[in-house]
Amino acid sequence: MNNLIQLRHTLHQFPEIALEESQTAQRILEFFVPFKPDQVFEKLGGTGLAFVYKGKKPGKRILFRCELDGLPIEDLKKTDHQSQIPGKGHLCGHDGHMAIICGLGEKLAENRPENGDVILLFQPAEETGDGAKAVMADPRFEQIRPDFAFALHNLPGYPLHQIVMRSGTFAAGSTGMTITLTGKTSHSAHPDAGINPAQAIAKLIQELPEFPKQASGFALLTLIHAELGSLAFGTSAGKGSLSMTLRAFNQQDLDVLIEKVKAKALEIGESEHLKVEFNFVEQFAVSVNDPDLYSVVEKAAKNQGFNPTEKPEPFRWSEDFGLFSQVCPSFLFGLGAGENCPQLHEGTYDFPDELIETGVGMFWGILKEI
Ligand SMILES: [Zn+2]
Ligand SMILES: [Zn+2]
Repeated sequence: MNNLIQLRHTLHQFPEIALEESQTAQRILEFFVPFKPDQVFEKLGGTGLAFVYKGKKPGKRILFRCELDGLPIEDLKKTDHQSQIPGKGHLCGHDGHMAIICGLGEKLAENRPENGDVILLFQPAEETGDGAKAVMADPRFEQIRPDFAFALHNLPGYPLHQIVMRSGTFAAGSTGMTITLTGKTSHSAHPDAGINPAQAIAKLIQELPEFPKQASGFALLTLIHAELGSLAFGTSAGKGSLSMTLRAFNQQDLDVLIEKVKAKALEIGESEHLKVEFNFVEQFAVSVNDPDLYSVVEKAAKNQGFNPTEKPEPFRWSEDFGLFSQVCPSFLFGLGAGENCPQLHEGTYDFPDELIETGVGMFWGILKEI
């Protein structure tokens, strides 16, 4: 276990953000050399890595996924493994997730699966929602396309080692959306000669946050940024934009919400003679847990002496593991990181080393149960 803790500390010291994780991937690649995987896929979806352990007999393909990326946030916790990269930190615990999957590789090196293949995926760019998409868009994904996929996320606010589970939606789907409205500038003494999008933006700010109320389940539209013209007092604004994050617990609600927002923006834009454009970023699918896999994960937890807790409501945050639930039956569960520790993405968050062993045990248990 010490080698895994050491690895996590090294990863913590040298965090790399989404789509830049080449050194991290190199470190993982070197760490796996003694574990003799049967097949290695490098630069998967950019900087990703996948290690394949082939079973003694043919069978299903089971994928375990972790994330390579850190965050563009300063690591503020003074430890002997504090980040050495200014402005960047492993503050979502992905360093711990990587150590767990490395621990699984260490076990697989000595005990190949009886049936089927095990894929250990180190996915890039989870934080921006780009990574899962990029891995699946890689033509080599077909060679590792799983029959079942599993992942865990550490959860501050829950007792240390607590397994947190849910059947159905585990985490919300979400998307960042920007509406750009283009009219025409004019002299501020003659605003009538131009087309100023101010009123259109004001209407959208008033109306859009009401839309999620029509959804069948939980949905939310949060305004995050607005921009209009520039600080030129002689000029009536000719362009503006409004940015928001949309989220929902089911994919259909999210898709319908997006369409309604688009329709309203087009309607208002048209009535005011504005050009309307849309841009989407950080798109995360809803993470849906397969009900049939619930008992597999539950047994794995109980066999380790843990009493898993059922979360009554899905989490409002998103995980790009959600995309795997569109590919095959999949299951994402939580692993408590302590009740009194900082939240994810806080400057002082540091993945608890004690969780590495629990995570390895959980994944190993799942492999035995499935
Ligand atoms: Zn995160
Ligand atoms: Zn995360």
